[in-house]
Amino acid sequence: MDAAPSPKTIVVVGAGIVGTACAHFLRRDGHDVTVVDPLEPGDGTSFGNAGVIATSEVAPIAMPGLLRQVPRMLADPNGPVVVRLRYLPKIAPWLFELVKATRRADAIAAALAPLLAEAEGAHDALAREAGAADLYRKPGWLKLYSSERAFAEAAAELSFMRRYGVRYEVLESEEIRELEPALAPIFRRAIFHPDCGFVRNPKRLTERVARSFLEKGGRIWREKALRFDLGEGRRAVITEKGRHAAEVIVLAAGAWSRPLALSLGARVPLDTERGYHAMLEPPEPALSRPVYWDDHHFILAPMEHGLRLTSGVEFAGLEAPPDYRLLDRLIGFAKRMLPSLKGEPRSRWLGFRPSLPDSLPVLGRSGKHEGVYFAFGHQHLGLTLSAISGRIIADLVAGRDPGIDLSPYRAERW
Ligand SMILES: Cc1cc2nc3c(=O)[nH]c(=O)nc-3n(C[C@H](O)[C@H](O)[C@H](O)COP(=O)(O)OP(=O)(O)OC[C@H]3O[C@@H](n4cnc5c(N)ncnc54)[C@H](O)[C@@H]3O)c2cc1C
Repeated sequence: MDAAPSPKTIVVVGAGIVGTACAHFLRRDGHDVTVVDPLEPGDGTSFGNAGVIATSEVAPIAMPGLLRQVPRMLADPNGPVVVRLRYLPKIAPWLFELVKATRRADAIAAALAPLLAEAEGAHDALAREAGAADLYRKPGWLKLYSSERAFAEAAAELSFMRRYGVRYEVLESEEIRELEPALAPIFRRAIFHPDCGFVRNPKRLTERVARSFLEKGGRIWREKALRFDLGEGRRAVITEKGRHAAEVIVLAAGAWSRPLALSLGARVPLDTERGYHAMLEPPEPALSRPVYWDDHHFILAPMEHGLRLTSGVEFAGLEAPPDYRLLDRLIGFAKRMLPSLKGEPRSRWLGFRPSLPDSLPVLGRSGKHEGVYFAFGHQHLGLTLSAISGRIIADLVAGRDPGIDLSPYRAERW
């Protein structure tokens, strides 16, 4: 049994699922922890994701062959990636780094694998400790293919999965219908990942983690961090309401972390892969797990408060207003997929995946400043990796060995 770490005064910047998970594990170690965020916990990107604890996703976004697919992707308005023309000059260096990262796909997968291997266990523990076990279950998730071409294109991902021991089963039409009778008989193949978890309301999970943190003596202040004071022998977070001295600062501000990281001495090419959701009336019969239609690049997730459709990626930065046309086109496909799905969306939402071009988060100690830690940039896997990230940050602050080589996630890798 490890000795209890000496208690420290800690400020966590950001109350998304990553920041609240860090706060939870730090408070569990007995530290004096304050979270600052101008929004309520879980009202950033953690509000509206698809809820998949996608431990299967060991293959990076930057897969070999990506460059060849780019022209087709950009020309397809229903494709997995949409780039708004006005944002193209801004995102071009990021896309260039993404293409460069395809050459390191093996190393990136090797770096993602140990985090993913521990992600499900860490989530289960977080949900139980935060009194949120009712929001979390492990039904696996299903990727559906209506064309042989789409299924054939999954071969490279499957080879990464085999290499890292990710369990999957390939299903034929009849088996798909047995598993999910609500689906139309239009799918030729599916890949089923039995070991993946599902959070049936990601906003409520974040709220519960925050509430349990408050009950255990943590503090959450609705304040925006503006900058940091890192002078000789002192450390503080400056918000619009005042100065909060801290022995330890954890930056977990999701897609908004880039300027804050810069003021902490880390120049990182963080951008956002925007994504949309629509909430729909749950169909009857219902889906029993999240499903992804690979040919059209969207997820349908049976949330506790309705069916959620989540979109692929839009590059348009943090400021551009939402463009719901892509989402509306996807709803048409969803109705083909689930014949009993009716009606218009109850609500639509835009969120901001915090993404580095090499598909890896920035996670661990600052190489420049003592007492400064980073936990951001978890891209498509922020919910999945939140609990394990929180546990790792707590281990580092306590001086425990996190048991994972953190060098691939260094802020200074750029
Ligand atoms: C459509 C969609 C579907 C997704 N599906 C999945 C999925 O199925 N599985 C999965 O694992 N991931 C999924 N993701 C990704 C996941 O949602 C994100 O990676 C994750 O929510 C990021 O969490 P976070 O805590 O880092 O960021 P956020 O939840 O965005 O939290 C960051 C917080 O920092 C705060 N902040 C910003 N600036 C400041 C400041 N100056 N001072 C203080 N606070 C500040 C913000 O207000 C915000 O509350 C999806 C994302 C999208 C958009």
